[in-house]
Amino acid sequence: MHGTRIASILSKTEGDTVDAQPSRSPSVAGSTRSTGYPTRPPLRRFLTDCYEEFRTDNSGELADYIPELTRANPGHFGVALVTIDGHVYEVGDSAVPFTIQSVSKAFVFALALETVGEERVAATIGVEPSGEAFNSIRLTNDNRPFNPMVNAGAIACSGLIYGVDGKGAFERVRSKLSQFAGRELGVDEAVHVSETATGNRNRAIAWLLRNYAVLPDDVDAVLDVYFRQCAILVTARDLAVMAATLANRGINPVTGVQVITPHIVARTLSVMTSSGMYDYAGEWTYRVGIPAKSGVGGGIVAALPSQLGLGTFSPLLDNHFNSVRGLKVCEALSARFDLHMLNRNADVRTCIMADYDVYGISSRRSRPPHEQQILDDRHSDIRILELVGALNFGTIDYVTRRLTSEPPNAPLLIIDFRRVPDITSAGAELLGETLTALGNAGITTILSGFEETSAVWAAISARTAEPRRLRRFALLDDAIEWAEDQVIYRFGGFTDVKESTHLGEQALLAELDTDEIAAIVKLSTTRHYSAGQRIIAAGEPANSLFFLQSGMVSVKLRSGVRLASLGPGMEFGEMAILEQGRSADVFADTPVTCLELPLDSFADYRRLHPETSLKIMRNLAAILARRLVLANAKVDLLSAY
Ligand code: GLU
Repeated sequence: MHGTRIASILSKTEGDTVDAQPSRSPSVAGSTRSTGYPTRPPLRRFLTDCYEEFRTDNSGELADYIPELTRANPGHFGVALVTIDGHVYEVGDSAVPFTIQSVSKAFVFALALETVGEERVAATIGVEPSGEAFNSIRLTNDNRPFNPMVNAGAIACSGLIYGVDGKGAFERVRSKLSQFAGRELGVDEAVHVSETATGNRNRAIAWLLRNYAVLPDDVDAVLDVYFRQCAILVTARDLAVMAATLANRGINPVTGVQVITPHIVARTLSVMTSSGMYDYAGEWTYRVGIPAKSGVGGGIVAALPSQLGLGTFSPLLDNHFNSVRGLKVCEALSARFDLHMLNRNADVRTCIMADYDVYGISSRRSRPPHEQQILDDRHSDIRILELVGALNFGTIDYVTRRLTSEPPNAPLLIIDFRRVPDITSAGAELLGETLTALGNAGITTILSGFEETSAVWAAISARTAEPRRLRRFALLDDAIEWAEDQVIYRFGGFTDVKESTHLGEQALLAELDTDEIAAIVKLSTTRHYSAGQRIIAAGEPANSLFFLQSGMVSVKLRSGVRLASLGPGMEFGEMAILEQGRSADVFADTPVTCLELPLDSFADYRRLHPETSLKIMRNLAAILARRLVLANAKVDLLSAY
């Protein structure tokens, strides 16, 4: 029925770049005109177009069975949309207050679940659509309200809360709804008085509930909680924030406060889906497919899980009591962006960003030749999986299938999570089970990319029953280095970092004969550093190079990123031959002994011994070429996925 009317805006927003409306920021508006650069996100344009198109529709009626509601301005029309990251889009009369009415039912149901627990609520109120008007005076065969979205169910919810808080019940309701909205909400006293005076039908429902002991003795007091909750003042913006809180698993995305548990959110959205839109609920779910609740004050909340919260306000109602313009906005939004909650798609395979072994890729720790040889031979002993994005049931199932259908002959499996912001409990469950099985099969899994305090690590490690075979490193590079150490240890052991090496083993001095090496030693001074000491500082003039004889050093950028770790037989600071200043810090990781060769005496030596100089420069070129090959392999790996 609304299909033709929304057709024009469904196609209108594409391709527009220039803001037709004067922008709120003159400087931005100015630059718009000169460059054509878009200054408004397309969603804002879309909402503005909806507003412009639907505001001219004056069909529908004001609710009049609560006399005070007839004082509403039928021209009012506000739309707000809050994204899951807390961005608020607002169009039209989004700041005009109106009474929340039945929209409160969804949130008070959530509060009842929180206050008295799921069992009590289920014993008191059903969750079946009633097939009757919202204010029907009818109960189920076992004398319970059909669901919490009709008046009988909502009054029963208020009764449950009243049973706990007595006179404090309304304040609990107001305060909870305020948390959902992210601001303190007040009450429209005139509407409250008006409904109290005329709400005999609700009184009849309440007494019927009392008859079946669904309500306690104080029927009038419970009714007052209900009438007051309906008279709470909200704006379209408030409704959008409240909806976004539901869409965001109970965390208000604007304030960051966890208002309600994800479990209760799912229950609340369920009844909104089946019964939220009066007698239009079935059609609504069919056509729009976004859990929603509307009220006779003209408000609608619509919450699309993990996407958005929408709040609309326009007091002209159709014959189902739904806001005419609000309905159109919801229908247009869902149709234009294909937002039906049951029309989802996801390619689970995108969660694996890279899957490789350490062939040609090693940690930043430079290894002496015999250790490097072991790693070259055993490269497939270390398998690395880099995951990306929030992980869930589907993506982790895919990961676990990759791990089990292509059994990693690798005894060491590294899974990197640095690009993973979140994992659902289902995902953690599946992964934990697989890691346990891998552990039992003798495979060690190293998870990297999170700190000890990370919720993702907590979720996974809590579900892995083989902790001896599970490790964690904050950095992928450290994880790879640790795994390499295991392989080297198993297949040949380590070079003792305390062991002094002969200068002839230095890559930079390869091919030099004993006399040439002796000459270099003569020009150098032996230096000792203690663990943690800085040997070279970035930015300083580069006037010497070092031959590491014992101990370990790390080359680090100012940001703390490690470029390399070096051991005996390796040189550092050798870039001084090519560059004027030091480009990185070098720290001693352990007690260190090295020979420092001052650049000026080295330069004199090279002038006198051009043959030797040529060998050294060739060695330097070879060292740099190896580094480049390694860096290229890493770049290639990342761009291949
Ligand atoms: N206070 C109103 C009533 O109980 C709310 C109705 C509604 O918004 O659906 O009649």
